[in-house]
Amino acid sequence: MLFTSVIAAVALAGAASARVEDLPRHLRLAYRDAINTTATNGNNASLPTIVYFGTGGTIAGSDSSATAVTGYQAGALGVQTLLDAVPEIINVTNIIGIQFTNVASDEMNTTLTMQLSRNISEYLASPDVFGAVVSHGTDTLEETAIMLDLTIKSDKPVVIVGAMRPATAISADGPYNLLQAISLATYAGAAGRGTMVTLNDRIGSAFYTTKTNPRSLDTFKAYEQGYLGNFVGATPRFWYEPAPVLNKPWFNITGFTTLPHVTILYAYEDMNLDIPLISAAIASGAKGIVVAGSGDGGTDSTWGAAWSALCKNASVAMVAATRTGDGSDAPDGPGGYTISANSLNPEKAKIMLQLSLATHGYNITAIQKDFDSDYPTFG
Ligand code: ASP
Repeated sequence: MLFTSVIAAVALAGAASARVEDLPRHLRLAYRDAINTTATNGNNASLPTIVYFGTGGTIAGSDSSATAVTGYQAGALGVQTLLDAVPEIINVTNIIGIQFTNVASDEMNTTLTMQLSRNISEYLASPDVFGAVVSHGTDTLEETAIMLDLTIKSDKPVVIVGAMRPATAISADGPYNLLQAISLATYAGAAGRGTMVTLNDRIGSAFYTTKTNPRSLDTFKAYEQGYLGNFVGATPRFWYEPAPVLNKPWFNITGFTTLPHVTILYAYEDMNLDIPLISAAIASGAKGIVVAGSGDGGTDSTWGAAWSALCKNASVAMVAATRTGDGSDAPDGPGGYTISANSLNPEKAKIMLQLSLATHGYNITAIQKDFDSDYPTFG
């Protein structure tokens, strides 16, 4: 695991103070190492402490041209460079900066994101750490976000942030996004809201927010569920009291290094010609198959029949999601075999299914219950 630690002292209003010196010894060491290797303006005891994990992406991207917003190298700059671009952060918090990895987000995987989750949990367990920030490539940010949301058991703010323009571009959005993310992680009103996604002045829930546009700065949205709040400058502003996703499950990933393999297959006209893809997925070791179904999780009837027969035969879990980009598919009904992804899009449903399979094994009822988390059970 890549673990070069750096620290920059930073700060924002309204949060409890915490001193890096008070951290447990094993966490304190990262800070000490950082001091040895990087410049720091010291620790301000009156400010809250947050932990910041850099993972790469466009926010850490670099190109020789200031106008390049494609073809740049993602994950080129380290966390100290990103923090240095926002000296105002020293008015907000003390930061324990950790270079977790430095890659384009397509190189992230669930082994890494589970490790990231455990590392964050370890820091949040310290009474002296107020919250956590992760910077990440936007392409798969939502997958890491839901992993953190489903596996971190803490009321402290966890914020994941990215950027759409590399750090070297004119009007790069990363520095301000990072300032807002760090500000959010130090904000008392951010507690109890699960993992949050922030970019372009918006705050969204990790459970629902998805990337909707490969170019636009205003790409992260949850059309149906909306935003949790926005920023006025660097100050977060929430629309509602904290309201966790209904019955959201928590998964204990202690000791997990890998998760069961889950494949996503996509629905389309003529998909009956591609029935061999189901067998290929199972042959490659898939323990679950999520279908990005047309409309309400639909598939060609021949393909659907083959899917059902092949998966049942191999004890492979079947989850129906929707390719529409929004809304929720209807549950399969009592005794149904196909698990409904409900409001989770296919890539988020994949993470949920992996965690659920790792926890319950091939238990359709238990898995459906995890997916029913945002399905109202009252009334
Ligand atoms: N390709 C980049 C990545 O996901 C895109 C981004 O960060 O916006 O790492």
